[in-house]
Amino acid sequence: MAPPPMVDDPGNVKVVVRCRAFVKREREKGTQCLIRMDPGSQKTTLLAPSDLDIAQANARKVYEDKEFTFDKSFWSHDEADPHYAHQEDVYRSFGEEFLDHNFDGYHTCIFAYGQTGSGKSYTMMGTPEQPGLIPRTCEELFERIQQEPAQNTNYHVHVSYFEVYNEHVRDLLVPRTNPPMYLKIRESQTDGVYVQGLTEAEVRNYADVERLMKMGDMSRTTASTKMNDTSSRSHAVFTIQLKQIQHSLLSDETIERCARMRLVDLAGSERAKSTEATGQRLKEGGQINKSLTTLGRVIAALADPRRHGKGGRRPRDIVPYRDSVLTWLLKDSLGGNSKTAMVACIAPSDYEETLSTLRYADQAK
Ligand code: ADP
Repeated sequence: MAPPPMVDDPGNVKVVVRCRAFVKREREKGTQCLIRMDPGSQKTTLLAPSDLDIAQANARKVYEDKEFTFDKSFWSHDEADPHYAHQEDVYRSFGEEFLDHNFDGYHTCIFAYGQTGSGKSYTMMGTPEQPGLIPRTCEELFERIQQEPAQNTNYHVHVSYFEVYNEHVRDLLVPRTNPPMYLKIRESQTDGVYVQGLTEAEVRNYADVERLMKMGDMSRTTASTKMNDTSSRSHAVFTIQLKQIQHSLLSDETIERCARMRLVDLAGSERAKSTEATGQRLKEGGQINKSLTTLGRVIAALADPRRHGKGGRRPRDIVPYRDSVLTWLLKDSLGGNSKTAMVACIAPSDYEETLSTLRYADQAK
């Protein structure tokens, strides 16, 4: 079957920002909120902290208000506010549109970026009471298949879940081994870039997906850092593959459409020094920064190819996919026919980390 036509539209990259509520520790300390969001203009302002502690004052750092504008600003800080963005609001703002795109036969990719504790897992996976983008996407996918199937069409859905840790790929749908078993990445003319031996589980309903999400989450690599006891040092990539096979009524012909949805919970973006990392942690920090920097460059190049080339349009093959395992693996799901969204997650009270997240998101616009 002929592939779907290329859609080369710079509007294929969406960058949104989401500010989380105070957690218990911040509420108890009476922490100052440094974020303002204007629902009309979608402007996000990072305010200079007024209660600088002595260390910061001694370092003579200059703090000033900084303003950014993204495709959407989600204010998930204060539930009493009429503009409060619920999990449902985040999903409705682009999750639905991305699912339409998948049913049309195109790939999509959603990333959550931000420092540890900024709300990435909450946004992607959520909690049983407040499900995030991954469960909502899967639930709606099966609702559509069951309630409004296209004529003479069979649907096949497969799910995989892997993590990229220190530039190694590990299957999250198999029991953990010690030492960990890493999978090889291969590239072929027919399949593109793929992970050799990765579990691709067929799922028939949402309950099947739920079981796999739980299994994968329990298997994720987590290690203790000074900042957060369960901080995740790996990128977790959840993939849903939707295959639609349509049978012609007039002949033996079938039309096959295959689309992938990648939903990625990135490793914490905090700089190594802020968690006082040493040894293994420092090495992880370097690898994480490398893949996040490459991802930023790839998304920026896709968002506006002209801006990143010299004297004109930059050829697509110069997009630096191969500079990190994460971007190499996601190559087929980024650019070309695909739609990409980045959710920059920010904590309400950390000036430096938030500034670095907002700058990263800004260069990806
Ligand atoms: P990360 O994945 O970036 O490390 P988490 O998603 O684990 O961060 O969020 C850190 C804490 O903040 C968790 O306790 C989570 O439940 C809470 N949280 C994050 N985002 C929100 C939100 N939008 N509303 C309410 N609580 C949130």
